[in-house]
Amino acid sequence: MARCLAGGDDPSVDEEVLADLEQLEAADPPTDAERLQAFCLAMRDPRSVPGVSRQVVLARGQRFLLELSMALEDEKGKEGAQSSPPSPAFAEPTAGLRRDREVRDREPEVLYDRELLTLKGVGPKTAARLASRGLANPLDVLFWLPRRYDDRRVVTPIADLVPGERAVTSGEVAAVRVYGRPWKRIMQVELEDESGERVSAMWFSNRRPRQDRFPKGETVTIAGLVGRHKGRLQIPHPVVVTGDEVDGDRVGRVVPVYGEVPGVAGRVVEKAVRSAAERAGELSTDPLPRSLLDKRELMGLAEALTLVHMPPLDVSVDALDAWVEGSSPAHRRLAYDEFFYIQLGLALRRRQLDRNPGVAVDTADDLADEAGRLLGFAPTGAQSRVIGEIAGDMSSESPMRRLLQGDVGSGKTMVALAAILAAVRAGCQASLMAPTEILAEQHMRTLGPALDKLHVKPVLHIGQARSSTRKKNLKALELGTADLAIGTHALIQESVNFKRLGLAVVDEQHRFGVSQRLGLVGKGPEGRSPHLLVMTATPIPRTLALTVHGDLDVSELDELPPGRQPVMTRCWPRDERDAPLDALARALDRGEQGYLVCPVIEESEKLDVRAAEEDHAEMVERFGEARVGLLHGRLSPEVRDEVMAAFARGEIGVLVTTTVVEVGVDVPGATVMVVESADRFGLAQLHQLRGRVGRSDKRSECHLIADPKSPESLSRLEVLERTGDGFAVAEADLAIRGPGELYGRRQAGLPGFRFGNLARDGALLVDAREDVAELLSDDPAMAGPTLTALREELARRIMSGEGPVGEESG
Ligand code: ADP
Ligand code: MG
Repeated sequence: MARCLAGGDDPSVDEEVLADLEQLEAADPPTDAERLQAFCLAMRDPRSVPGVSRQVVLARGQRFLLELSMALEDEKGKEGAQSSPPSPAFAEPTAGLRRDREVRDREPEVLYDRELLTLKGVGPKTAARLASRGLANPLDVLFWLPRRYDDRRVVTPIADLVPGERAVTSGEVAAVRVYGRPWKRIMQVELEDESGERVSAMWFSNRRPRQDRFPKGETVTIAGLVGRHKGRLQIPHPVVVTGDEVDGDRVGRVVPVYGEVPGVAGRVVEKAVRSAAERAGELSTDPLPRSLLDKRELMGLAEALTLVHMPPLDVSVDALDAWVEGSSPAHRRLAYDEFFYIQLGLALRRRQLDRNPGVAVDTADDLADEAGRLLGFAPTGAQSRVIGEIAGDMSSESPMRRLLQGDVGSGKTMVALAAILAAVRAGCQASLMAPTEILAEQHMRTLGPALDKLHVKPVLHIGQARSSTRKKNLKALELGTADLAIGTHALIQESVNFKRLGLAVVDEQHRFGVSQRLGLVGKGPEGRSPHLLVMTATPIPRTLALTVHGDLDVSELDELPPGRQPVMTRCWPRDERDAPLDALARALDRGEQGYLVCPVIEESEKLDVRAAEEDHAEMVERFGEARVGLLHGRLSPEVRDEVMAAFARGEIGVLVTTTVVEVGVDVPGATVMVVESADRFGLAQLHQLRGRVGRSDKRSECHLIADPKSPESLSRLEVLERTGDGFAVAEADLAIRGPGELYGRRQAGLPGFRFGNLARDGALLVDAREDVAELLSDDPAMAGPTLTALREELARRIMSGEGPVGEESG
């Protein structure tokens, strides 16, 4: 990756908003009551909870109570106090409790550790804003890595600027011009230095250009990517360092650049992180045994944390490349830590799970063929092989723990069906958990009729069922009259009991947190542990997958069903939006179907993006009411199911929708996917959306409409034009995002590493895995006094959501 200097508009602002939108669209986060219930459940018999987990549960409980008491305190403090209306970006707290709407509307509710106020320049307002970005205490801030580093040590004379390179330069304001259409103003500030050469700072699409910032004759320092237009040097959207800031610490050194915190100036963020970094030794503890650090040649934790925020002044330009790429020795230490604790957590969990034997199930030889017959097609070679592996696992007493990887459309559902078949044949119950209600309902529609032929009775258990149905279903599972439960994470609630659960299948497992994924394993019959099959389209090469998912065996569907063609993908600027819409029209003419995906449901003033309701109206106008459907997360389950079923039957031609269709939705008749405001989505997310088409032998196309403000986001989307391979997409996404990004981990597609990068640090991961194995073989219970600090650190990390793998989406 090229070394980056100061850049223009930061795309992370959008991600912030997107994360909020996503939260609205995603399955419901746990309520207070649910969290309290989980806590009480775990603490009912604390001694039955093994050591490390107990600490985690306790720590979580403590945090929960602390949040509760802080919320109450805040409430008291707020009475009578004047409050400003919340900005939408803060409306959904990340660390807070969900309270009733009245309270929430009055004040953004964001909880932070009071210690945060000890950082330089951080007052209550900034603290709340930091916390809303996931930085709720000094340690969070300390572990928040720069997105990149700007080498602003050298100011290049204008005459020496080279187009295509990033640079800092300085000169006096010689001329300021504003021109262009009123809604798309261009501002040009010409700088001139002693040499008499000139360079222009350019701002495009400015609504309110601020000429007054650049009085003639003032010396201005700017930083950014140098370009050339009609023979003249220019720097578009530069970082500007003017007046007294020139002498400040924003130039003359290597400056770390952090992601945006809405409402907090970049300089304030820099200062706060710096003050945390200066106290790294006091804030962080380093529980890794000395011997380990020596063996792997790793630096101390505090030293690493200080360095990542304050690279040495004299770091060479070449060495700085490693800093920018996140592969410096300091970054390496942080990546190692991350891998180490994840591996440790997984190893301990696996140990705990394997205490109980599973239920051995006799499996027929032609399981794959039978599953294929039920669904009406012949299994692919890969499907047969994987089903064979699963059958082998299930026929053993030791419970299956298997991860099935297969890119979008590779036919994972059929494999799930085969496993379910084996379980119910043997008289066990099975469960199939999906991350969204739409997907659960779809599984019900696809598998229901197939299973009906075998007199297997599935029940649907999702959050929103009517209470009479719900009671009836729960009873059926408890009595064992229902063989299969299909549902969402509602399945892991305490109220759900099985008579003889022998198999748990988790679809799109990367959308669940680890605890959710494993939640069903505890629901087996007394003293037995059900077989577990988790499925994902998140593509990691097999060798890495084995290591990342240390507690799972891995199977791969590396073959698509016959006749699949690559999906033709194209990006469009917003003003050529007609072309993709015409593609939808042509699909309808051919008797095929299409999706039109929008980032939001309703139009809003704040966001300049297309909304589903707006597009729906437009499509109805164009194609007529009968051929257009609208689907989003705010519809009632009945309406939603109806719309989806009508689309699946082919009655609806164009489905206008949101990211609720992102995962799993399977309607083979759909051949055109159009995504509006595509620059709002992560690459892996777009890859998933694209995976909704190309599910038959017909030619399919995917059109991404975007109004990318920065060239960076354009090249980002073009990755999808070039490759249809999910792993390549995920890698590119990670490379573009850079290290240390807090948000978008789920979108990145690869497991949620903050510091490590699988594409780069694979060997380090293998090291960490070995070290953990060694450590546990010496002291399986981790009872030794040298490991106390390690246990505590593991608990802290799990609690703060840093690991193990997968908590990113939980
Ligand atoms: P995913 O791996 O994304 O979950 P699905 O299980 O939804 O994929 O399968 C994608 C589509 O391919 C479905 O329409 C399914 O019916 C079809 N399919 C799966 N396996 C085969 C096969 N062996 N032959 C033909 N079509 C298949
Ligand atoms: Mg699927």
